[in-house]
Amino acid sequence: MKDNGNMNSEIRSDAAVPKTPAGSAVLPLDSSFTVEVTGWYRDNRRNLPWRQDKDPYHVWVSEIMLQQTRVEAVRDYYQRFMQALPTIEALAEAEEEQLLKLWQGLGYYNRVRNLQKAARQILQNPSAEEVSVDPSVTGFASAGFPRTMPEILALPGIGEYTAGAIASICFDQRTPAVDGNVLRVMARLTEEEGDVKSTPVKRSFTELLADLYPDTDCGDFTQGLIELGALVCLPNGQPRCEMCPVSGFCRARAAGRVMELPVKAEKKTRRQEQRTVFILSCGGRLAVRRRPKGSLLGNLYEFPQVSRHLTAGAAVSQAEAWGCHPLDVTRSKQYKHIFSHVEWDMIGYYINCGSEGPGETFRWVSREQLEEEIPLPSAFQPFCPE
Ligand code: SF4
Repeated sequence: MKDNGNMNSEIRSDAAVPKTPAGSAVLPLDSSFTVEVTGWYRDNRRNLPWRQDKDPYHVWVSEIMLQQTRVEAVRDYYQRFMQALPTIEALAEAEEEQLLKLWQGLGYYNRVRNLQKAARQILQNPSAEEVSVDPSVTGFASAGFPRTMPEILALPGIGEYTAGAIASICFDQRTPAVDGNVLRVMARLTEEEGDVKSTPVKRSFTELLADLYPDTDCGDFTQGLIELGALVCLPNGQPRCEMCPVSGFCRARAAGRVMELPVKAEKKTRRQEQRTVFILSCGGRLAVRRRPKGSLLGNLYEFPQVSRHLTAGAAVSQAEAWGCHPLDVTRSKQYKHIFSHVEWDMIGYYINCGSEGPGETFRWVSREQLEEEIPLPSAFQPFCPE
């Protein structure tokens, strides 16, 4: 990280201005940079389902889904979600099981729980109901949505990035939204040496960008920077500098250092855990159970599982202990599932059972129920029988 807190003034005043490959000086990040980014965005933006309007409900849900997930994967999730829950009111009133099912496979399930908490919080605003019933008055259906950064930030599950995106895209405010794409673009443009995930670097980019925002169409600048990172200033492999609209502003390119930047601190290693999963079937139904509330994947369903890898014999004994009267057993393939802090090394056993066992141990469901109703996280999907 450079000493000078004001990177904007640093770039403009640096006497030893680097040269681009063509030999001309690197341009300062000023309003001409902003014009290039917004103009490029308007000509090159992808047509995505959540970009059809500026309704904050649409932008908000898409931004939460896009955290940790690729755009292509989010498209279908977003459309299913909006079909099932087209308004903030519908989201607020949804059953938890429906929410989790709609989110199944996206992971980080607290995101959807927080969406619902925030929806309920928005509707507690006394003016929300009044304004949200008539979109023609305000231009969009979610008019009860808060409009200022502090109010948006006060909603559960919304951090600086998401609040900045909503405020600039939906309410035309000069609020930067600095995600991983923008960090990478900015680190290369400014030849930043510090860890891009660190708070001081994020803060310095946020301050620098806040000064560069246009007076109107702020959302196009926000989305232009993000889109630039997604389509041109790529994360893995060579960025597409030859087609970059802001290559003339780029210090890393001028210095021949685009592949060295951004600098990222080393990731912590994940804890390794062994798991044995049981796919117990009886009379065409499969055993599932809810995971404990508050645990990893809490309140979602799982195929019964135990820690460590069991032999086939030990798996049969475990099924007997559950009272399921195992008839035959087949070993599944081995899978790894990676969470943010832990990695599950998973094996499974398909066991045909003569009995569902006593009482409330498991919920036995048909294949159709499993597919349509039961929120089963991705970690267990590879074990679903064909
Ligand atoms: Fe990224 Fe290359 Fe553009 Fe610089 S010139 S911002 S490295 S794509």
